Amino acid sequence: MVVLFAMTVRVRFAPSPTGFLHVGGARTALFNWLFARREAGKFLLRIEDTDKARSTDEHTQVILDGLTWLGLDWDEQPIFQGARLARHQQMADQLLKEGKAYMEEDAIRLRVPPGELSWEDAVHGRISFKGEDIRDFVILRSDRSPLYNFAVVVDDIDMQITHVLRGDDHISNTPKQLAVYRALGSVTPIFGHVPMIHGPDGKKLSKRHGATAVGDYQHLGILPEAMRNFLALLGWSPGGDREIMSKEELRALFSLDGILKKPSVFDTTKLEWMNGQYLTAKSADELLPLVEPELAKLGLNGSTAGVRNAITAVKTRSRTTLDVARQVAVRLDGKFVTLDEKAQKEIAKDKDGYHAALAASVTVLKNVAWTAGEIEHALRNLAQQRNVAAGKIFQPIRIALTGGTVSEPVNELLSVVGKEAALRRLEAASLI
Ligand code: GLU
Repeated sequence: MVVLFAMTVRVRFAPSPTGFLHVGGARTALFNWLFARREAGKFLLRIEDTDKARSTDEHTQVILDGLTWLGLDWDEQPIFQGARLARHQQMADQLLKEGKAYMEEDAIRLRVPPGELSWEDAVHGRISFKGEDIRDFVILRSDRSPLYNFAVVVDDIDMQITHVLRGDDHISNTPKQLAVYRALGSVTPIFGHVPMIHGPDGKKLSKRHGATAVGDYQHLGILPEAMRNFLALLGWSPGGDREIMSKEELRALFSLDGILKKPSVFDTTKLEWMNGQYLTAKSADELLPLVEPELAKLGLNGSTAGVRNAITAVKTRSRTTLDVARQVAVRLDGKFVTLDEKAQKEIAKDKDGYHAALAASVTVLKNVAWTAGEIEHALRNLAQQRNVAAGKIFQPIRIALTGGTVSEPVNELLSVVGKEAALRRLEAASLI
C-alpha cells in the first residue's frame, strides 16, 4: 500500500535587519508568500539579527512595514534568530559529543566528509559540490556565537521549513548547509535559488541604479499593488505575455516552475508604466486619500469635489501618485504652472498667434455656460471664425493652463479648472 503524506508547505523569509527592505528581499519574500498561499501552506518570518552591531529594531520595523504595505501577511510569530543562541550552542555541543565536530582553538568545527553534496534545485536543476572542496568549517566561534550557515540550518529544522527559496547569491552556502543537515541527521528541505536582479546595465542592482528600498518607491508614489505585480515579474512568468495581475491572480498562477533561470532587469520605466495602469484603473475616490496629503504639503486644500474631478482628469496620464498630485495642483492653482521645454518651443514658434488665440478664447468663453460640451462648441466655432484648425485654439489654452503640451481634452481641462480661474489665468497668459 502506498501512503501519501500531505506535507504542509512551510516557507520563510529571513531578512537581516541591518538595512531597509530592498527590492531583492521584497521579491524573495513575495515569491515565498505566493508559494505558501498557492499551496495552502505557511509563510513564516525569521529575523536574522545575530549581527548585533548592525541589527536594529527600527530596521526590523521598516521591513515588517514594507511587507505589510505590499500586502504580504505572515503566519505565526516572527522568530528572532538572536534569541535562539542557547539552542544553537546545544546543537553544536551535540555534534561535538557525537564526534561529528571537533574543538579547535576553542571553536567548534564541523567535519565535512568527502563525497558528493548535491541537491535538486527547484530553479536550476541539479547542483553538485564535492565534500573534498568544502573544508571543515567553524559552526560555533570561541565566544560560543554560531556561524551563519549553522544557525540557519538549526532554525530551518526547528521551524520545519519544507522549501528554502532565496537569492542565488546563497548557492555557495548551500553545500555547507547540506553538510550540517547530514550531521544533524535531518531531512533537507527543497532548495530553490532565485536569480539576482540586475540594473539596466546588466550589473547587480545597487544604489548606483537609483532607489533600491521598497520604502523609497512608496514615497515616490508607487502603488503597492503595482509594486507587487512588478516584483512578481522580476524572475517569474506565468507564461505567455500576461503582465497585469491582481494579488488573487498571482496567487492562483504562481509556481516554482515559472521561476526564470536568468537574472531579471529592474526597469523603472516599466514599473512606472505598470503603476500608470493601476492608477488608471482606480477611481478618484480611491486615489483621493493618497493625493490629498501631497496637496496639503503644497499648501493646497481645495474642495474635495474639485480635487476629485481633477484626479479623474489626470490619472490616466500619470505615472505616480506624486505625478497625479502635481497635475492636480496645476489645475487648482496657476502658481504651480511651469512651462516645460516643448511648451516653450511651441510658444516661441508663433508668440503673437499664441497670445491672440488666448485673448480671443477669453472673449468667447466669458459668455459660455461652463459645461464641457458648451465649451467645446464655443471653441470650435471660434476656430472656424478665425479660419484656423481647432488645435490652434486648443493648444495655446492647454499650454497656458498646464505648462505642457499634453493633457486631457481641453474642454475637460477648462471645466476642471473652473470658469473664473480659467478666464483669469488665460487672460494673464495672453499678456506675457
Ligand atoms: N539573512 C539571509 C539574507 O538576508 C537569509 C538567507 C536565507 O534565506 O537562508 O540573505
